[in-house]
Amino acid sequence: MLGAIIGDVYGSIYEFDNIKEKELVKLTKFSTPTDDSIMTIAISKALLSCYKDIKEKKEGYEKTLFDKCVEIMVAYGNTYPHKGYGGNFKKWLRNPNRKPYGSYGNGSAMRVSPVGWVCDSLEDTLQIAQITAETTHNHPEGIKGAQAVAAGIYLLRTGKDKDYVKQYITDTFDYDLDRKLDEIRKDYVFHVSCQRSVPEAIIAFLEGNSFEDVIRNAISIGGDSDTIACIAGSLAEVVYSIPDDMRNGVLTNITNQHELKPRDFEFYNKVVLKKKDRKLDEVPFVFEYEELDIKNMLDHVTAMIGGL
Ligand SMILES: [Mg+2]
Repeated sequence: MLGAIIGDVYGSIYEFDNIKEKELVKLTKFSTPTDDSIMTIAISKALLSCYKDIKEKKEGYEKTLFDKCVEIMVAYGNTYPHKGYGGNFKKWLRNPNRKPYGSYGNGSAMRVSPVGWVCDSLEDTLQIAQITAETTHNHPEGIKGAQAVAAGIYLLRTGKDKDYVKQYITDTFDYDLDRKLDEIRKDYVFHVSCQRSVPEAIIAFLEGNSFEDVIRNAISIGGDSDTIACIAGSLAEVVYSIPDDMRNGVLTNITNQHELKPRDFEFYNKVVLKKKDRKLDEVPFVFEYEELDIKNMLDHVTAMIGGL
């Protein structure tokens, strides 16, 4: 989940300004969380709030989770409205009678990573991923994209290696993961669909040899860079340590930009960290957050205007 957010922040400045070279990937002061991070957090909150229901499979837990995902996605989407959401998703956010709209966009896959950390079986992981996707992306490809990523995370965190994950995803979702990034990079352009971006993100992960390498891979093919890096990062964080400079750089940006709040990382700190491989040596993602003092700011502005 943190890997997804770091991937999104790193990719944010390249989504509409693609680069095709790994060496050029860097974090700048403009790198910022986008819809990928916001919706990842929304799903993580929904899972946390339905955690017991899911674990105990309480009667009606599927609907409880579906409704909670919708509620929190809407709340977060409207709290952070200018984050690069797709047109249909924006309409969905605003519509009081909102319904799933048959999307196969990669929005279902970019927000699914927390699901990979919740369930005790692959079967349950696939089912919960489907529920989170179906709130909006109820096209079979939209569901597949979310399931492939969540299943990948689940399999990796329960001890399967990259080869196993590659084979499983190839067999189950019919993605072509045999391609190499060097071939993809040549003519890859922006694709918003799951089927044209999720396999590429998975390949970026498979070819990488560290967390940083995976993020550089993901951004270097171009296309929907923040989402591809988000998905690739969500897989990479399961097997690779997140380097301190990447983690601290993102932390500095979200603090300086007043983006996100410490409680947005509750799921990461409470659920993900407990299940992460101890060898990765990850620590809680905590930071000081100074609420913007609106009253003080207004007083300041009033004083300035009064003084003119
Ligand atoms: Mg985005």
